[in-house]
Amino acid sequence: MSSSSAVVVGGGIGGLAAAIGLRLAGWDVTVVERTAVLDDAGAGISLAANGMRALAALGVGERVGAAARRQYTGGTRTPDGRRLAAMDGRALERELGAPIVGIPRADLHRILREALPAGALVAGGAPAELDGTPGRPRVRFGGTTLDADLVVAADGIHSRIRRRLFPAHPGPVYSGSTVLRAITAHPVEGLAADFELTWGRGAEFGHIAFPDGRAEWHAVLNAPAGVRYRDPLAEVRRRFARWHEPVPSLLAATRPEAVLHHDINELVTPLPSYAAGRVALLGDAAHAMTPHLGQGACQALEDAVTLAATLAGSRTVEGGLVQYDAVRRPRSQAVARDARRAGRMGQQLANPLAVGLRNAAIRLTPPGAMVRTVLRHADWTPPRIVEPAA
Ligand SMILES: Cc1cc2nc3c(=O)[nH]c(=O)nc-3n(C[C@H](O)[C@H](O)[C@H](O)COP(=O)(O)OP(=O)(O)OC[C@H]3O[C@@H](n4cnc5c(N)ncnc54)[C@H](O)[C@@H]3O)c2cc1C
Repeated sequence: MSSSSAVVVGGGIGGLAAAIGLRLAGWDVTVVERTAVLDDAGAGISLAANGMRALAALGVGERVGAAARRQYTGGTRTPDGRRLAAMDGRALERELGAPIVGIPRADLHRILREALPAGALVAGGAPAELDGTPGRPRVRFGGTTLDADLVVAADGIHSRIRRRLFPAHPGPVYSGSTVLRAITAHPVEGLAADFELTWGRGAEFGHIAFPDGRAEWHAVLNAPAGVRYRDPLAEVRRRFARWHEPVPSLLAATRPEAVLHHDINELVTPLPSYAAGRVALLGDAAHAMTPHLGQGACQALEDAVTLAATLAGSRTVEGGLVQYDAVRRPRSQAVARDARRAGRMGQQLANPLAVGLRNAAIRLTPPGAMVRTVLRHADWTPPRIVEPAA
């Protein structure tokens, strides 16, 4: 397709990655973002090999790799510290051709923003609205109306554009789990594992270590929707008081004001399409999933590369989006299903007998088998984004 103009609604990981990809395919892109400050800038993220390969296809893989810590050691434990499964990140990197890494979200976001030219991201103000029709879309934002040959809805789990295009879709639902997380204020002494998850009954504690020795920890709990704690850090310390090291050390290295608390919602009913006319849905707007496989952002990055590649290879926007939908919907919806299942068998499992049986079964599996199951979606090869000849 010859070069045209696109408006991306939402400047999260998915929206910024889509903008970078579309620019590589020759598009003129504007990203409109309602907030000046990221909602989850104080958290970290793991990127599996598929996410890293998508970032490499977008030309930012090396910068992200340099700011991230490779996840070579760690695995899964029980609260008393006994090992359930160990991870050999070096072997996985050799197998998959890319590492699994941990990085502060703010750093990932900065690298993605810096890959765009000045002025391509317009942030702050009222939420953008889709105007016109899917066949001739426009975007209203900050008192102006932007015409576009393509609109990318990267406006997250509560996407207004998804609601507008699919009014009968029930939207996100509460998963049954709530998450509290924070980045430690300083490096944590004796943090041996790059990445670790510990499963209790209806509760998980995990950490992602960063290159400077700090780490993000997360505590995921089965809880009623909307539960809030007067002192979130004190609540996590109380609940995880008897869990193995480094859980107490991570919590001791945390400032109370650093703790973020979000309920985990997901799109349980799959969307019937990720495209309508000249509007594409991408990332959490299209397939918000639970974080139990650490794949939400990785799938958004895959979407971004695939969108740019299919549009570059198609004569019309509509044709490119039909192909984008055909490639991305089955895969990302399968990952979302598996993430839900992983949560039910992992963090959310609360019955003591079932937990004991699960743990025994994991211990009986060959070394590395469980980690491979968790990472089965990480083996992905990006399509090439080829800018059409002028
Ligand atoms: C606890 C937790 C841990 C996770 N861990 C991982 C992990 O380790 N690895 C992984 O791959 N994934 C992980 N995920 C999933 C990942 O965070 C998301 O899938 C990813 O951030 C989605 O990116 P996005 O750009 O699609 O949406 P978002 O990050 O939600 O971005 C949407 C953006 O659109 C903006 N916006 C919304 N509406 C409008 C509007 N109308 N106009 C303008 N702007 C608008 C918002 O302000 C926001 O900036 C995790 C999720 C959770 C909750």
